[in-house]
Amino acid sequence: MSQLVTRAVALSALLAAACAERPASDFHVHGAGVSVRTSAPFAHREDLPARIEAAISAALVYWGGSWDDLSGAQITLLDGPYVPCPGSSHAVGCYDGDLRISASDPGAGTLSCVEQTVLVHEVGHAVIGDRHHTDPRWMDFEAVLEALSGQSGYTAGGETDCPLFTSVWRHSPDAP
Ligand SMILES: [Zn+2]
Repeated sequence: MSQLVTRAVALSALLAAACAERPASDFHVHGAGVSVRTSAPFAHREDLPARIEAAISAALVYWGGSWDDLSGAQITLLDGPYVPCPGSSHAVGCYDGDLRISASDPGAGTLSCVEQTVLVHEVGHAVIGDRHHTDPRWMDFEAVLEALSGQSGYTAGGETDCPLFTSVWRHSPDAP
């Protein structure tokens, strides 16, 4: 009996550890959960769910995907500059079935809108895989830039603009 109890305790400890890596969703966009784990001002504005939905929609159009590609996935926004990612110590974004996205840039600091993050890039991995970035679309993104430009950004002081740059989403093919 006591051995059973010990095993039950050990199992629940294991489950707790697993849950710690996948935080609870604050809201859902279609079938994907979104968890806000950053203090970046844009992530605490009322328009965040709509902005994430629009950014992902533009990315899905670009990549030829659908919301099914993200069904059951967890999207976590984190304070950066780097996010936990298997096999990478300097990732600003990660896709391993779930998406982890940094809300800050290693050079520029805290970002002012969700469109400035690498979300559009990581959605690409969710749709086409291609972890070595061999598809030519990894070096384009002009259509996404056009679709998402011109929206407001946010700082601690209030509203600002939110310039976008394709260089944030681009990635040249990995060396073979
Ligand atoms: Zn990538």
